[in-house]
Amino acid sequence: MTTEYQAVIAEFEPIIGLETHIELGTNSKMFCSCSAQFGGDPNTHVCPVCLGLPGSMPVVNRVAVESTIRMGLALNCSIAPWCRFARKNYFYPDMPKNYQISQYDEPLCSDGYLDVTVPTENGPGVFRVEIERVHMEEDTGKLLHAGGSGRIHGATHSLVDYNRAGIPLIEVVTKPILGTGELAPEIAKAYVSELRDLMRALGVSDVRMEEGSLRCDVNVSLNRQGEGWGTRTETKNVNSLRSVERAVRTEMVRQAEQLRLGERIILETRHFNEETGDTTSGRSKEEAEDYRYFPEPDLVPVAPSESWIKQLRGTLPEIPSVRRARLQNDWGISEFDMQSLVNAGALELIIASIDAGVQPSAARKWWTGELTRVANERDCELEELTVTPADIAQIEGLISEGVLTDKMARSVFEGLLDGEGNVAEVIDSRGLVVVNDDDLLVEAINQALSESPDIAEKIKSGKVAAAGAIVGAVMKSTKGQADAAKVRTLLLEQLGVKE
Ligand code: ADP
Ligand code: MG
Ligand code: ZN
Repeated sequence: MTTEYQAVIAEFEPIIGLETHIELGTNSKMFCSCSAQFGGDPNTHVCPVCLGLPGSMPVVNRVAVESTIRMGLALNCSIAPWCRFARKNYFYPDMPKNYQISQYDEPLCSDGYLDVTVPTENGPGVFRVEIERVHMEEDTGKLLHAGGSGRIHGATHSLVDYNRAGIPLIEVVTKPILGTGELAPEIAKAYVSELRDLMRALGVSDVRMEEGSLRCDVNVSLNRQGEGWGTRTETKNVNSLRSVERAVRTEMVRQAEQLRLGERIILETRHFNEETGDTTSGRSKEEAEDYRYFPEPDLVPVAPSESWIKQLRGTLPEIPSVRRARLQNDWGISEFDMQSLVNAGALELIIASIDAGVQPSAARKWWTGELTRVANERDCELEELTVTPADIAQIEGLISEGVLTDKMARSVFEGLLDGEGNVAEVIDSRGLVVVNDDDLLVEAINQALSESPDIAEKIKSGKVAAAGAIVGAVMKSTKGQADAAKVRTLLLEQLGVKE
C-alpha cells in the first residue's frame, strides 16, 4: 500500500457500488430472431425490429428470461412474480429506436447478495456484497470513428454497426457497499471476479471482459468518518479485473485530493485510462427523469410461475465457492494457496489444464510459478499470455516421455510467450533435445569428474551428497539438455557407489 493511499484511508471512508453489464450468450437477440453471435460483417445481423423500423414489434426471448432468473437465483435474489419492461428514452446514433428497452422500477430480480473472499491480515476473509437488482435490457450498436485516432475528436466520419444492437444485456447492480475500509479496491475486484465465475458456471455468458461481454461501471465516493455519504462518481466501462481494482484506488486518491482542497465532487461519469490508470471527466449524470421512463407498451409483462422458477432453481450448478472448497480439498492445498491462485486468475486455467490431462500439481506449478511471474513482469493477466492449457498438456507429456527436461520446458514456455510458434516449432527452432545417449552422458560425467578429482574422491568415500556438484556440472556442459536424475544414476554407477 502506498503512503498516499494510506493517508486517504486515515482520513476518509470509501463507499463503492458496482454496475455490471453481462451480454448473454443466447442464439438470438433479446426481442427479435437475429443472430446474437459476436462479430459478423457489419449490419448483417439486423432486421426491422432491432433497426427500430416503424411498425415492427418486439417479442421477448424466453431463454434470456430464463437466464436472468437463474442469475437472480444464483445471486440469492427474490424473483418478481410480475414485472414489466420500460422504455428508457435517449437519442444516440448507436441506438436506432432512440429508446432502449430496459427495466426501471420493476426489475425481474432484486435484493440478493454475493459472498466474496478477500485477503486480509488474518488470512482470507468473507465479505458479503448486497445486490440491489438484476434486470434485463438490450445492448446498443457500435460506433466506429474513422479518419483519425479512433476517437470521435479528430475523426472525419463515423460508421455504425447494428449487429450488437438488441443483444440481451443483463445489468447487476449492487447496493452501496459500506464498511470495506482500505480493502475497497480488492473487494471491488473480488466481487467482479466472483460474479464472472458465477456467470461462467451458470453458462449464461462467456463473460469475456476483453471482448466486452462483461463490462463494469465503478461508483466511488468518500466521506470523512462520522459524516454523511459523499457524492459518487461513476467510472464507465472498466474492462479488466485489474482495472476495476485500479479504478477504485485512483478515484479514491483523486477525490481525496479534491476534498482536501475544499472542492466538491460532482456527480459525473468518468473514463478509465488503461495506460495511465487515471480517470478523466466524462459527462455530468442524467437524472432518472431525463430518460422519461414509461412501461413498454409493445411488450406483455413477464410473469414467471412458481413452478417455472422452481424448475430453473433445479438447474443451478455447483457455485464457484463450493467448487473451490472441493478442489482445495482434492488438491490438498491450504485455503491461502487456493486464494492466491484465484487472485492470480489461475484457477480456471489450472482446471482447464487438468481437463487437458495435466497432473494437478504440475498444472498449479506452471500457472502459479513461471507463468504468473511472466504475467506480473509484463503487467498483464494470465489468460492474456500466449500459452494455453493445451500447450501445458503437450509440454508435460513431453517431460514425462523424457523428451524434455524441466529446464527445457521453461525454454519452450519462453518461446511460446515470445511468439516463436507452437510447441513443436519452438522445440525445433531452439534445438531442444534431451541428451539421452548414455555414451554421451558418461563422457560428460567423466569429463566433470576429471575436472574435480576431490569431489570424485568424496563421493567414492561414501559422501553421496557431493554428487550434486557433478550432476550440476554435467547439466551445465549439456546446456540443461540432460535428465538430471539419469545423470545421477549413471554417475553413481560409474563410481561404483550405492545410495
Ligand atoms: P445510475 O444508473 O444512475 O448509475 P444505479 O442505481 O443504476 O444508478 O447505480 C448506482 C450505483 O452506485 C449502485 O451500485 C449504487 O449502489 C451505487 N451508489 C449509490 N450511491 C453511492 C455513493 N454515495 N457512493 C458510492 N456508490 C454509490
Ligand atoms: Mg449507471
Ligand atoms: Zn433483429
